[in-house]
Formats: sequence, C-alpha cells, structure tokens
Amino acid sequence: MEPGAAAAGSRRVLRRLRDVMAGSGTAQQKLDTIVRIIAADMVAEVCSCYIRRAGDLLELFATEGLRPEAVHRTRLRVGEGLVGVIAATARPLALAEAQSHPDFAYRPETGEEVYHSLMGVPILRGGRVLGVLVVQNRTQRHYSEDEIEALQTIAMVLAEIAASGDLVSPAEQQPGEGNVTLPTRLEGIRLNTGLAIGQAVLHQPRVTIRRIVAEDVGAELERLRNAIAAMQSAIDELLAQTDIPDSGEHLDVLETYRMFAADRGWLQRIADAVRGGLTAEAAVQRVLDDTRARLLQATDPYIKERLTDLEDLANRLQSHLTGKPITAARASELPDEFVLIARNMGPAELLDYDRRRLKGLVLEEGSPGAHVAVVARALDIPVVGRVKDVLLRVEAGDVVVVDGDDAIVVLRPGEDLLQAAQARIRIRQGQREQYAAFKDLPAETKDGVRIELNLNAGLLIDLPYLDEAGAEGIGLFRTELQFMLREDFPTVAQQAMLYRRVLDQAGDRPVTFRTLDIGGDKLLPYMEGEREENPAMGWRAVRIALDRPALLRQQLRAFIRAATGRRLRVMFPLIAEIAEFEAAREVLELELARVRKRGGVLPTMIEAGVMLEVPSLLWELPELLKRVDFISVGTNDLVQFLFAADRGNARVAERYDYLSPAVLRVLADIARACAAAAKPFALCGEMAGDPLGAMALIGLGYRNLSMAPRSLGRVKAMVRSLDYRSLCDFLATLSGHTGSLRGSLHDFAQDHGVAI
Ligand code: PEP
Ligand code: MG
Repeated sequence: MEPGAAAAGSRRVLRRLRDVMAGSGTAQQKLDTIVRIIAADMVAEVCSCYIRRAGDLLELFATEGLRPEAVHRTRLRVGEGLVGVIAATARPLALAEAQSHPDFAYRPETGEEVYHSLMGVPILRGGRVLGVLVVQNRTQRHYSEDEIEALQTIAMVLAEIAASGDLVSPAEQQPGEGNVTLPTRLEGIRLNTGLAIGQAVLHQPRVTIRRIVAEDVGAELERLRNAIAAMQSAIDELLAQTDIPDSGEHLDVLETYRMFAADRGWLQRIADAVRGGLTAEAAVQRVLDDTRARLLQATDPYIKERLTDLEDLANRLQSHLTGKPITAARASELPDEFVLIARNMGPAELLDYDRRRLKGLVLEEGSPGAHVAVVARALDIPVVGRVKDVLLRVEAGDVVVVDGDDAIVVLRPGEDLLQAAQARIRIRQGQREQYAAFKDLPAETKDGVRIELNLNAGLLIDLPYLDEAGAEGIGLFRTELQFMLREDFPTVAQQAMLYRRVLDQAGDRPVTFRTLDIGGDKLLPYMEGEREENPAMGWRAVRIALDRPALLRQQLRAFIRAATGRRLRVMFPLIAEIAEFEAAREVLELELARVRKRGGVLPTMIEAGVMLEVPSLLWELPELLKRVDFISVGTNDLVQFLFAADRGNARVAERYDYLSPAVLRVLADIARACAAAAKPFALCGEMAGDPLGAMALIGLGYRNLSMAPRSLGRVKAMVRSLDYRSLCDFLATLSGHTGSLRGSLHDFAQDHGVAI
C-alpha cells in the first residue's frame, strides 16, 4: 500500500471510531462495535480486545470472530500466551504462523485453532499497559509495518475506553489492590542517603489528552509545526539567558535538548502519526509510547537515559500544544516542602525546581549512575530509586517520607511514623547548625593535631559547599561527572571554561583535578564501548586515557589553559604500575611543552599525583613516591580490589568492613612509606567521610582527608572532640585482633566523648 493511502485509511477508521465513542451506548456496547469496525477495516476474520484486570490478568472483553461465549471467560496472565507476551513487553507482535510460536497458548473455548496469523499491539496509557488489541487471519498473512502502525494508532482510542473506568474500575487497574489512602511503605534502592518529609509533587503529571482523532489533518499539522517552532525558540531563549544560576550544567543539558528538539526522525514520526488521523497531542503521545516501549527493552542504561531526555522533550512539546505548563517546576503553587515523584528525569529538569523547597526525590526507575542521581547527590537531597509503581500509588499532595538511608518511601505515613521522622530530621538539623557554627574553626584535635579537610566535588553546584562547610580545598574533583551529563565530548574550550570556574570559585584554596575516570560502568553515551564482564577491572580510567591519548591531551590542555598563572594539581586514576603514571605524565609534559613553544603562560606550579587504588601499586611504593608529587588513596576502589568485592553490588559490598585489620594495615603501611619519603599524601574514598573511619585514619597517620560535602561537618566535629594521644594508645592495644574493629573503635569514641 502507498504510504499516503495508508494514512488516508487510518484517518477513515479513526473518524468512524470517534463517532462510535461520541455516540450513545454503554462502554461494552461501544467496544463490541469497535472490534467489528476494526476487523472489517483490517480485513481480518478476528479482532479481539483484552483488558487488564486485577491480579495482572488479561480478560477477553470483546471479539469479532472468536466464539462469543469466550468473552469474559478467557483470561490470560500477563506473560502467558501471545497476548500475555504483548502485555508483558508492551511491544507489538506480528506473526504469519502464530501457532508455532513457543508462547502460543491454546484456549479451546475461543475456537481460534483455525486462525494462523496474528497481529497484536498493547493498549497503552501513560506508559502502562491497559490491555491488548489483536487481529487474526485464517491465512498465513504477513502484516506490514503500516498495518502494525495503524493498529497502534487505533489502540490509542481504545486506551480511552479502557482508562475511563466504565469497563473495569480504575482501582482494579492499579497494581496491588487496596485503599490508596492508607499508609503505604515501598522499597527501592538507595541513590542518595538522608531523610526528608514533604508533600508529593508529581513530575510531569499525567497528561490527559482529550481529543485523539483529528478533525482536520491540515490544521493539526499546522498546530504541530507552530508548537515545534515555539518549543525550539523557547529552548534557544533559555540557552541565551546568561543569568541562569549555576549555568554550567543547565547549558550542557539544554544544548542536548536543542539537538533533540531538532531531531528530524522524531518530528517526522509525530507528523506521520498526525497524517494518520491523530491530533497533534495524541501523535506526540503515540510516538513517545512507542519509543518508550522500544527503549525499555534495552539493557544499556545509557539508552534508557536517552528515553528520559525524550520524555522531557515530548512533555515540553505537549505543553506548547496545550498552552499549559506540564511540570509544576515554575508554578508558584509548589508546596513549601515537597518530595518530587517521577518515573525518571533528566538532570536539568531537577535543577528546574526550587531547590530550597525540594526536599527529596523518588523515582520509579533510576540507577546510581543516572545523571539525575549525580545531580541530586550534589544537591544533597535523599533519593530512593526503582520504587515500583510509586506514581500509581501516590496522589499529588500526599505526605511522603523519603528515607534514603534505608531505601524506603512511606506514602501517607501514620502519626507515629511521621513524628519519629520529624524528630530524626530535627536532630540532624540541630547537628547541621552546630557544624555551621564552627565552620571557620580549624579541624584540630583537642591535643593540637591539625587535620586538613577537603571536599570531593564534580559539578559546579558542589562549589558553594567550599564556603558553607568550611573546606580547605577540593581534594578530588571528579571530572567525569561533567562529561556524563553531556551528549557529546566537550571541546577543550568548554572544558577549560568549567575548570576555570572551579578554580575561580576556589580562590586560594587548592583544587586537585582528576583526569577522566570513565569506562567500565561509567560509559559515556557518546563514546562507543563494549559491554564488559567485569567493568570495574576493565577498560577504564587511565587505561582509556593511554589508549586514546587525544582525549587525555585535550583534557590536560584544558587544565593548563584554565590554570594559567595559577597552581595546577592533576591526579591520574586507577594507576596499576609506575609505567602508567610515567606515560601519563609524559603526555602532560608534551602539553606543557606545546604551550611553552607557543609562548603561552603556564601555571605557576604543576603537581602530578596518582590515585592509589589498585593493590599492585602497593609493592612499588618506594619507587613510585620518588616520581610523584603527591598521592591520594582511593579506598572505594582499593577496598573492593583487596576484598575482591564489587563496591556496586549491595550483596557483597557491605560484607567486608574497611575498619578491619587487613585494610587498616595496608593504610598504615602507605602512611608510613609516604612519611618516610616526605611525600604529601591524602585519602579521598568514602571512608574519610565516615567519622569513625576518619578517626581511625588519623590514628594511622593521615592528616589530609577529602570527602563529600555533607560529611565535612560531622568529621570536623569528630576531630575537634578527639584526643589524639589516647587514640594512638588505644590503637596499640588492638594489634592482633581479628575481624572488624568497628565495634571497638565505636566503644572508644563513646568512652572518650568523641562525636561520631
Ligand atoms: C575511590 O576509588 O576511592 C575514589 C575516591 O574514586 P571513585 O569513587 O570516583 O572511584
Ligand atoms: Mg576510584
């Protein structure tokens, strides 16, 4: 069939369906008529509509062609039979010979054994499968792409009936039946620690599309064109604004939208759906539903991330079509303290919300490496991810408790729980005020041992914490975070601009830039990479940098440019042998020579160091220390490699304690070797931000610790209440102990009034 003819056919049937929908009769009667129209239009002997009911069952609600007595009798589980597979995957299926498919489930009451070919599509609404629409033929018919598309478009109309509540009650379509106003406790995964209470704000409240079938295709195309133009210029305008706070991350991400917003493939598919008879809004939704179903099958988290960007863009387009703001981000009626609930979202969208009122984030999807999680950590708000069906269970305005520490979300908590959470928040708030009070005081033990406390950072939004927390500098700037938020490699100029801003904001305080620690599980969306069996030990960090020296050269060039006339500290991650450090340092020398040759201005001082995080390097320490300007111990990786326990796998990550003799001995050896070589050394793993871990490190000889912003106050409180001598005496008594020393260290702290 010609594409134009397909579109005309689709429009014709949509109009007929619209008339049925607008006419009189019960929902069941309308459904009965609709399946007849579809069967005739598609020249199929059978057209059946299955609707999802409680318990994840798909019930045959209407059929043309199957035995009438099967209606309301035939039921399949989601995942059972071909209909169940369509529902489970939310993807269309077209088979010329359905009965030979391994998932075919024969139901004798239907009499379907005489039909060979089958084409089915999910009935989708807001990303949820409400049912399945199927046509069947006696012959072994090959359904075309156009026919599948047409059936998908028709399924949008059926979604209206399915969601209307006239066939099955909306409560039945909610997963997990029950009264939605009762307190509900949901579990997820921890994406950021912390505790918050707030009223639920639903990110992208479900768009209800009132009109599905276009009255006038030409006029709809015109509306679509105008909305696209309006959206594109709104994005351009946003980009042109110079007063966006912390514009760094915004700009990068908005650039992405601009690219997406001009994506011809996407816009073309929407226009095609309008030509098929849908209104512009319905067409945007159709294309989004389709893309979502397709991308959700992908296992690559970065592909899924693209979906988040596309969803955001589709919503922006909807808002231009309807003239209504889709997100509540800019609405003045946001509650004073709110918890944002979303399926998933892009990082820029999170930054759209008023940060003072945003207390927590709950996601149906999300992973620790997701961009939104990276930004939420920088904002220091608790985040719980992978909370199944939270959007279906929560209503806007519900009170929500987000417990990031235990990865739990409570909707509509009872009075007892609410009071307990409020008390915990008050205690933390009191502590914060206490920490703020001594932010300008030195981190010094009671007996005068001075400890340098630095910040781990990676985004511009981290930088205000330098002042807020009273840090002495940035001990670790993870440059990869900025790369992860983008859709393409930043140019040298873009990188230099960011690094310069970091140095500007740090002022006299030293900043240690780490070169890219990408690869493994931190793949950049725009860099091709292979899935690896064992990514933490794979092609990662300096290994990529040395294999792709252009990338490293560009980054080093940007560092040098940014630090013109200032101090530059560069650190290389995941160095496993001295030769790697030397090779990386050579690249740095090359870049410095290049600037010299051109008569450029160099940094006033250049220090090159390594992250000590791969055990092999421990046996090269004396030689290494002769060559580096400093080292920083990365306990996150070092401990995972020492125990052979994946730090990202909750099952094993918490099995081994860094406060155990093996780790503490290694760390003591490092401190001794560095002190003997008079080489500056620091520690920047999570251990430094745990007051008990920091206490042990001070006892082992560490004087420079770098940590996440929120840990700084707690660690300083610990340091200022510690008596170093008695800690050393105590540690001496522990030699020969086996197993975790956490309990003993904890008891020491309690007995000696150390604030932990
Ligand atoms: C570490 O490994 O301890 C470290 C600080 O680096 P990252 O957590 O970025 O791997
Ligand atoms: Mg590391």
